[in-house]
Amino acid sequence: MNQRTCQLCEKKDLHTIVDGATRMGPWAYMCYPCFTINGRGLGLGRGQLYHWDYDTQKYVKVPSTSR
Ligand SMILES: [Zn+2]
Repeated sequence: MNQRTCQLCEKKDLHTIVDGATRMGPWAYMCYPCFTINGRGLGLGRGQLYHWDYDTQKYVKVPSTSR
């Protein structure tokens, strides 16, 4: 599995990425700066934060502490 590219600004090799709903409607993989501008928040039905894990070479879900 490769590191994701932000679907909004096309920044590559993201260490932190959010798979979430955008203000425009559709879901997207976003870098954190894009998420802060375009995201609709974290949580069920809104968005999930991931961090790249160098040991396993996978994205790992970051538990949501929001709400
Ligand atoms: Zn971006």
